[in-house]
Amino acid sequence: MLAIRNLGKTYANGVHALNDVTLDIPRGMFGLLGPNGAGKSSLMRTLATLQEADSGSATLEGANGEIIDVLRDKDAVRRRLGYLPQDFGVYPKVSAEDMLTHFAVLKGLIDRKQRREVVDGLLQQVNLWDVRKRKLGTYSGGMRQRFGVAQALLGNPRLVIVDEPTAGLDPEERNRFLNLLAEIGENVAVILSTHIVEDVTDLCPTMAIMNKGQVLLTGKPSDAIAAL
Ligand code: ADP
Ligand code: ADP
Repeated sequence: MLAIRNLGKTYANGVHALNDVTLDIPRGMFGLLGPNGAGKSSLMRTLATLQEADSGSATLEGANGEIIDVLRDKDAVRRRLGYLPQDFGVYPKVSAEDMLTHFAVLKGLIDRKQRREVVDGLLQQVNLWDVRKRKLGTYSGGMRQRFGVAQALLGNPRLVIVDEPTAGLDPEERNRFLNLLAEIGENVAVILSTHIVEDVTDLCPTMAIMNKGQVLLTGKPSDAIAAL
């Protein structure tokens, strides 16, 4: 669904964050595992069209088989992308329901009835229905992350990128969150970027390991971890 070829990125300070990165990312959950500084966020930001690569290409397959040039057709990518960044902020004084409704308007969901259905459906899907009226500032880390998923799912993305989502979650919230990602992964491509081995081995059928800007290996978690 997503083909990444020979991506390169060197920052102004001389750090080679991406070094000839080539990956094929299928539908479902894909784990991107690597230590801090490996280049995961640089890759995720590049795919989310938030920063430029120096070289290489990436193409995304749309719902009707159309091929989208990720590095050039930024608007087309953004319409098909859900991105949950590493440290995403929330407006503490707004309720989850109002915030999601606001984002739905920004996404072009103009029709009130349709918007209501989408927002309600997402709040239920991420299990925040009962607390939808509460202000986001009162949410726990796990609730916040699940709100982030609802936000990322607005507009029916083909690709969802989740960057280091389980940091700071307690075990129960972590499980709940990872199960939610697995559910989403049944319909779309989900890239789960993390430095936690178990996040990947627990639920990603395929994975890649990155270090120092390079992809070390890709495959099934059992094979990949054994090869290390
Ligand atoms: P560039 O212009 O090099 O492509 P950005 O515009 O994303 O990169 O970042 C601007 C500057 O912010 C960088 O040159 C760097 O000095 C600093 N910076 C931001 N994040 C980091 C980081 N994680 N490590 C080191 N420097 C950083
Ligand atoms: P990860 O997400 O795996 O921790 P990053 O992509 O954040 O890795 O970082 C890869 C390398 O690039 C690190 O050495 C980091 O300090 C550096 N880096 C990240 N962002 C910037 C930036 N904007 N400017 C300069 N260096 C950066």
